[in-house]
Amino acid sequence: MIFDQDEHASVVFFFSDDSEVVREMNYAEYQAILDGYVPAVDLANRDLNAVYVEFNAKYKVVATVFFLVRFTSLGYVDDRWSVPLMQLARFASKGPDLGAGPVRLVCASRCPMKQYTAGLWDPDLRSGKGEFKGIAEAVKRNRVGIMFRDPDPEQLRQEKEAEEARQIMEKSIAMRLRNKMDQEFRDHMAQVIKEQRLRTQTILNDKERYIRDLKVQQNARVEDYRTMLEEQKRMLEQERERNAALKETIEGQAQKIQGLREYFEVKLEKAEGSEQDQLEQLKQNYEMEMDAHVEAATTELKEMLQLREVELLYRSEQETKLLEEINTLREQNQGLVDNSGDNILSKLMEKGVSFVTYQPGAGHITLPVSDISSYLENPTAYVASFCGVTEAHYNAWLEHYHVPICRATHSSGEMCGENIHRVESPVDFVFGETDCCHKHRKNKSPQLKVAGSNP
Ligand SMILES: [Zn+2]
Repeated sequence: MIFDQDEHASVVFFFSDDSEVVREMNYAEYQAILDGYVPAVDLANRDLNAVYVEFNAKYKVVATVFFLVRFTSLGYVDDRWSVPLMQLARFASKGPDLGAGPVRLVCASRCPMKQYTAGLWDPDLRSGKGEFKGIAEAVKRNRVGIMFRDPDPEQLRQEKEAEEARQIMEKSIAMRLRNKMDQEFRDHMAQVIKEQRLRTQTILNDKERYIRDLKVQQNARVEDYRTMLEEQKRMLEQERERNAALKETIEGQAQKIQGLREYFEVKLEKAEGSEQDQLEQLKQNYEMEMDAHVEAATTELKEMLQLREVELLYRSEQETKLLEEINTLREQNQGLVDNSGDNILSKLMEKGVSFVTYQPGAGHITLPVSDISSYLENPTAYVASFCGVTEAHYNAWLEHYHVPICRATHSSGEMCGENIHRVESPVDFVFGETDCCHKHRKNKSPQLKVAGSNP
C-alpha cells in the first residue's frame, strides 16, 4: 500500500506467548478478516495479544492500541469482538518515545473509554524493551510492504524556505523578548532596591524612637529607686532612734529589778531563820505522838498474846483428858467384845448355827468364831487372804471378773477395751497378762496399769 508523505500508515501485529511478533498484516487485511471475507487459517482457534500501530513516513511509531482478539476454528475473528481501534488511538495518552516523540498509547491501564478495558492488555512500558522494541523493529522491517510517495522538489524547497524564515523570525522574537525582559528586570530591581532603602530607613527610625523611649523609662525607674532608697534610709534612722530609746528603758528596768531582788533576798534570809525553829518544834511533837501511838499498840497486842497462851494451855489439858477417856472406852469395848461377843457366837455355834459367806473367787466360806472380828473389820482382806493373794491382787481380779476387757492403753492414751476370756480364780490372775487381749499381751509395755492396785 502507498501513503502520502503526511499520512500515517496502520498495521496490526500479533504476539506469541513470549512477546515476539509472530504475524504482521496491514489494517485493510485485518478489516477483511473482521468482515469475514478472508479467514486467517494459521490463527484459527487462538487467543492472541495484538497491537494496532500507526506510523509516519519515516517509519517511526506514532500510536499504539494493545488489544486482545480470539479467532474461531475457521480463522475468523470472534463475532463478539468490537474494539474501535482507530477511535481509541485518537484519544490515547502519552507513552514511550519510539523516535517520533511520545507515542499515543492505549492499553488496559490507560484506556480513555472504560467500557473497552476488558478487551485490552498491558505491555512492558519501557521504551526499547519488550513489546515496544519488537514493534519498532517490525515497523522498520516493513514486511507488510507499506510505501510512502516521494516528496515534490518544489514543495521541499518551499518548505525549506519557510523553515529558514521561521527560524529567522524565532531568533528576532527571542532577541526582542530578551531585551524587553532585561529592561523589565532592571526596572523591577531598581524598584525593589528603592523599596528596601525606604524600609531600612523606616526600621532605623523606629529603632531610634524605641531606644529613646527605653532611655526615658530607664531614667524614670532610676528616679523611683532613688526615692525608695531615701525613704528606706529615713525609716532606718527612725528605727535606730527608737532602738536607742528602748535600750535606755530596758536598762532602767533592769536596775529596778536588781534593787527588788536584793530587797527580797534580805527578806528571805530573815524569814528562813524563824521558819527553821518552827520546823524543829513540829518535828519533836510528831515524834512524841508517834512514840505514844506505838506504845499503846504494843501493850494491847501483848495482852492479847497472853490471853491466847492461857487459852492454848486450857485446850491442851482438855485434849489430854479426852484422849485418856477414849483409851478407857476402847479398852472397855474390847473387854465387852472379848467376853460377851465370843460367848454369844460360841453359844450359837454350839447350837448348830454356822456363819457362811459367799465371795467371788472363793465361793462359800464358813467363818470360824475366832475369824469373825477380823472378817468384820475388813471382808476383802479376809477373802484375799483366804484365796492366798494380796488384797490389791484380789481387787484387781475382782474388777477383771466383773468386766472382762483388755485394760491396756494404746499409744494415744485410750484404753483398749477388747473383750477377753474371764479368769475364774484370783490365783490364776496375772497383772498385765491375763487381763490383756492377745495383741497387748505380746506387746507388754511399762504403760500397762493394774486396775485397782495401789502404787
Ligand atoms: Zn488390748
